[in-house]
Amino acid sequence: MTHFIDPRLKQALSPFWPNLDRVGSHVGGAMIAGEGAAVTIADPVTGKPLLSYADAGAPVAAKAAAAAAAGQAEWSRLTAAARGRTMQAIAREILAQLEPLAHLESLGAGKPIRDTRVEVAKVAEMFEYYAGWADKFHGEVIPVPSSHLNYTRREPMGVVLQITPWNAPVFTCGWQVAPAIAMGNAVLLKPSELTPLTSLAVAVLAERAGLPKGVVNVLAGYGHSTGQAAMAEPAVKKVVFVGSVPTGRLIAESAARRLLPCVLELGGKSANIVFADADLARAAIGAQAAIFSGAGQSCVAGSRLLVQRSVYQRVVDLVAEGAARIKLGDPLSPDIEVGPINNARQYDHVLSMVRDGVAEGAEIVTGESGETTPGGYFVRPTVLKNVRNDMSIARNEVFGPVVAAIPFDTEAEAIAIANDSDFGLAGAVWTSDVGRAHRVAAAVKAGTFWINSYKTINVASPFGGYGFSGHGRSSGVEALYEYTQVKSVWVETAAEPAVAFGYAPGVRA
Ligand code: NAD
Repeated sequence: MTHFIDPRLKQALSPFWPNLDRVGSHVGGAMIAGEGAAVTIADPVTGKPLLSYADAGAPVAAKAAAAAAAGQAEWSRLTAAARGRTMQAIAREILAQLEPLAHLESLGAGKPIRDTRVEVAKVAEMFEYYAGWADKFHGEVIPVPSSHLNYTRREPMGVVLQITPWNAPVFTCGWQVAPAIAMGNAVLLKPSELTPLTSLAVAVLAERAGLPKGVVNVLAGYGHSTGQAAMAEPAVKKVVFVGSVPTGRLIAESAARRLLPCVLELGGKSANIVFADADLARAAIGAQAAIFSGAGQSCVAGSRLLVQRSVYQRVVDLVAEGAARIKLGDPLSPDIEVGPINNARQYDHVLSMVRDGVAEGAEIVTGESGETTPGGYFVRPTVLKNVRNDMSIARNEVFGPVVAAIPFDTEAEAIAIANDSDFGLAGAVWTSDVGRAHRVAAAVKAGTFWINSYKTINVASPFGGYGFSGHGRSSGVEALYEYTQVKSVWVETAAEPAVAFGYAPGVRA
């Protein structure tokens, strides 16, 4: 069955596409169906089919690349201020459609509606934030020791390819699209084959707000086919990949063959460190938010809970008691705190990680035993104790609501355990000792670090990883460096031109 849309989903799609009969890719302002293999998405709440569509494949990727090249030429000819005004209009349009977009995200990705409302608002904020930057990120005049005027221009890369995962589709779309287009680029966005709908909807809303067609194109389909076809398109000049380490490696290899610059935003195994001198009640709430929000399907999840031995059992008990009270259920119910895992493969992976942890000696305090059940992909918040940092549950990304509690004795040991990981995406420390807080923040190798807090992020702050968590940065002004290239322009200003191999006579080298 290549084309199927569940009636509830069809209803949720209608604010964006009245009477849609097949889902495809958004190319040059139009929805075009793919002709590749069927992609079937299950409703994470029931496990029953929700949507089938045809993989875009190489022919659609080629059309999208051509549309993006044309769109980029038009978009980059506008003044920076005009681009900023269009982006402000996009932000307003997204806010006006907050409820339908959040509903579509909850239905399509299985995320609680209370979370998706916030995420859609953040997408609007991203367009607004980068709209402000559009005419404020510019070149400089360099004081060179000669008669030249030397200035720099920040130029768009051209067409950028963005490949994104399924855990926060609409958020990730805004996160990468807004800085890219603010700088005059056009985008080929290839969301996860499992969650293309809200990225497609954002492209529709952006054009309703006045974005020229072709500036944002969304490819619906598989990574190995559509994603690779897009990577091979000559128009693509930069790749930004958000996803897992194994796929990141493949992307980096493909990019290297084409000498394409790439940003990699990969996974994590972040250490959330609780010292005995911390406010333990707050730390326990923070530890729950760190791992259970979004059902743990978060790259920055605090999946390793490092607790000082003297308070280890107390903190583990507090986190477990909180975990058992979390409301799990249908993501469309407004009071639900945690929804299902997004897909069957990930559901099996999360439970197999619990089984491996137990086999290696970890003890379940609350939550799942590792048994799968038929139907939807719900995983109860799970706390494992007596974990050692060499166990697979402490080394590999679970990407689910499972926390591994590891005891430590000293500050030095906590730092050593935190850094004994391939990853380096995020981390946190809970302590009332201000000196220790800053010592630990400086010593832990991670791109984001919280003190007596967890998971706060903002569009204005840089984000990215150390080690296997990737390289390059997103968010804030850092993203604008990624989405531009700098050109140095030299102008001779001397009355008597006297240039010999670039050096004016009489000027010290
Ligand atoms: P994934 O690596 O399986 O897929 C990510 C994207 O890559 C998808 O769009 C997929 O279709 C595409 N893809 C797969 N194979 C490809 C290929 N051969 N060529 C081109 N594209 C290909 O990741 P996932 O399971 O969708 O997402 C979960 C992962 O994402 C976790 O590891 C998580 O930590 C990570 N993540 C990282 C961040 C961050 O900012 N660092 C944010 C969210 C998620």
